[in-house]
Amino acid sequence: MSSILFNHVNKTYGKDKKPVVKDFNLRVEEKEFIVLVGPSGCGKSTTLRMLAGLEDISDGEIFINDQKVNDLPPKNRDIAMVFQSYALYPNMSIYENIAFGLRLRKVPKSEIDLAVKRAARVLEIENYLDRKPRQLSGGQRQRVALGRAIVREPKVFLMDEPLSNLDAKLRVQMRTEIIRLQKQLGVTTIYVTHDQTEAMTMGDRIVVMNDGIVQQVDTPERIYNAPVNRFVASFVGSPPMNFIEGKLSEDTHRLYFETRRFKLELPGGKVLPHLQRYIGKSITLGIRAENISIEQIVFDAYPNSVFQGIHRFSELMGADRFIYVQIGNEQDVVVRINPRYHFQPQQQIKLAIDMNKALFFDPNSGVCVG
Ligand code: ADP
Ligand code: MG
Repeated sequence: MSSILFNHVNKTYGKDKKPVVKDFNLRVEEKEFIVLVGPSGCGKSTTLRMLAGLEDISDGEIFINDQKVNDLPPKNRDIAMVFQSYALYPNMSIYENIAFGLRLRKVPKSEIDLAVKRAARVLEIENYLDRKPRQLSGGQRQRVALGRAIVREPKVFLMDEPLSNLDAKLRVQMRTEIIRLQKQLGVTTIYVTHDQTEAMTMGDRIVVMNDGIVQQVDTPERIYNAPVNRFVASFVGSPPMNFIEGKLSEDTHRLYFETRRFKLELPGGKVLPHLQRYIGKSITLGIRAENISIEQIVFDAYPNSVFQGIHRFSELMGADRFIYVQIGNEQDVVVRINPRYHFQPQQQIKLAIDMNKALFFDPNSGVCVG
């Protein structure tokens, strides 16, 4: 059981000191499952590799259990890493692959045997121990790679996109298995992925990164419902959050969000002091697809947040239908509706926004302001 602390960690590469991780700060609690998520190239792997000791830290400090590890060689950090490519030894049996690390460390044979069998049982690969890697499926091979990490009983697991090579169905299944395993073993884990669904479903907390900079560290619920900026709001969730450009106005002590085409009243609860300074100014409204409605009952409840659009096209997603609706010049929103409703292209559609769920963003900085 271990905690991890990143304290103002920076990474630069090459002579021109190109920064790829900028002022990274994070405390990971014992037994926590942390997911680092962000677009490709945002510095996730570099962060993980600095913790593992595979990459120098340009500036700042990393601690494992209050021990500074900056200058500790990788093998002394007691970390096990699992990568996207499982890198199994093709000529060794599964048993030997799992045992390999322990053999190197001259662990007694009987102990190795116990550890390998225990891991194989947990991962349900007991029946494959005599096989060679090529005789296993991708998912089974990834389990062997996990087995190799487990038998070392490390302080920390690091996983770098371990499921990226698997097909969609297996990926979903392995997600659950990794979480179960991690809870069962109680090993502090940092998991890297570019896949927001993986992050949302797996993390106790999620670290969203962009361009080397941590954007937000929070629970999945808060990342989804209270994103700190437009980047987080649009990176997480499928379909991505809708953004509507407009301005804020005030009329007889009520606040309105206005575009050229429509005007929506903000509920009393939204007349918050931090929105006051946007009155008469541009602001961006953010609303998720499930918080726009086409139901009469919602129109009746919120008559001052109803507006019109033109249906462009729909996507049937099984349990939901996503409709794309033009609500201004070059401005579309996507709305999640019940698939029993059908619309023709170019059909007029009435919409209502649940303004209690609306978020507001500064149009210049992208910061969420309410
Ligand atoms: P991610 O894992 O989020 O996709 P990486 O941490 O691998 O991103 O890379 C972050 C940035 O650092 C990228 O722009 C990448 O090109 C750069 N980078 C990674 N490794 C090196 C290296 N050895 N030398 C120079 N630049 C590198
Ligand atoms: Mg990477």
